[in-house]
Amino acid sequence: MNAADSESLARRLLAAGYVEDSLERADVAILNTCVVRQASEDRVYSRLHELKAWKTPERTIAVTGCIVAKEGDELRRRFPQLDAVVPIGEYEDFLAGLEARYDYSQGEALPQAGRTGISHFVRVIQGCDHNCTFCIVPKVRGRERHVPMDDVVRECRRAVREGASEVVLLGQNVDDYSDPSGRGGLARLVREVEKIPGLRRLRFLTSHPQDLEPELLEVMAASSVVCRELQLPVQSGDDTVLKRMARGYQMRHYRAIVKRARALMPDIGLATDVIVGFPGESEAAFLNTRALLEEIEFDVVHLAMYSPRPGTFAASRMEDDVPQDEKLRRLNDLLALQRSIAARKTARWIGRDVEVLIEGRDELNRPYGRIRQGKRAIVLRAGDIAPGRLVTLRVMQATAGQLLGLLNPTKSEAAP
Ligand code: SF4
Repeated sequence: MNAADSESLARRLLAAGYVEDSLERADVAILNTCVVRQASEDRVYSRLHELKAWKTPERTIAVTGCIVAKEGDELRRRFPQLDAVVPIGEYEDFLAGLEARYDYSQGEALPQAGRTGISHFVRVIQGCDHNCTFCIVPKVRGRERHVPMDDVVRECRRAVREGASEVVLLGQNVDDYSDPSGRGGLARLVREVEKIPGLRRLRFLTSHPQDLEPELLEVMAASSVVCRELQLPVQSGDDTVLKRMARGYQMRHYRAIVKRARALMPDIGLATDVIVGFPGESEAAFLNTRALLEEIEFDVVHLAMYSPRPGTFAASRMEDDVPQDEKLRRLNDLLALQRSIAARKTARWIGRDVEVLIEGRDELNRPYGRIRQGKRAIVLRAGDIAPGRLVTLRVMQATAGQLLGLLNPTKSEAAP
């Protein structure tokens, strides 16, 4: 879960135009934290002590991850030089703050394209027209602005020409995409982009259950380029909570999408976001969310505890009535549940052959990449494999977060 959160934040930063660099050269240091054991927690404090010497008025230190819920106030007290304490998954304010601080401003122009080696991010919508009562995005990002389809396709072509193997179409609510000159929505855009010669993989995120067109699922199922992965935030498994969140759908509708997606693509990777402790979330409502996680068995669940965000409808008009320790209990309960579900689900891949697009080498110097369903996969006992190469792995082991396997040379692309 922690690794997935790091990846998610890293992708957001790359998409906004930031680049990864050494600590010596960097403007921003972000610690994503884990408190599952005391040793992990102690490591956060020791890293923060080390960063004191690095910190200058121009540099930013941020902490995110599980320690924020547990020790957020204590962190601020002990490390006044800390610039931001960011709850898991609540990155919008933080990113907006960075943009303001480092003057990353492109006015009305839509920022395009971050680069992570073989992956290229292409923003197709900026802003959001929904008004979920907990969310600050419409306020900080404004109304939706859609990039013309021809511009998106041109940008993707350029990226592939320059060596990208994968493009990721980005929007706060990417399903709402509509070409300004009326050429069609996301399904049409995906069909246009997937035709680009040399493109190996195409992803899009984030979807919204209210706006996802059934046709998009058909396009995904029929394509060998579009990844079989859906980021579909549910936020709650309870209709009364969804109504207070103003999400615009009911669970019946959400379940129908998942059912259709799995009928077309039985092994589709499903990721979601869940908020626990939203105003008025009773124990029964929470248990509905818990039951949903058990029923659907998501591959990844980004969990967050509700906290009122100034400027949102919920913060100004709803009582934050679930006590903090109860929110934490619910969060920990779902974290433990999802950890066991994810471990069970990934174990089902053992013995199967999977196609991996190599992205680079991990901290143990092993080639790694992702399978079409979105899971991270590591190649064991392999020599050099160039980023961008498609290989086939026989999965030998699995953890909750990743697959590990041996190369099947007869099914893999030859080295260039
Ligand atoms: S759809 Fe997503 S970005 Fe838009 S208001 Fe709702 S939660 Fe925020």
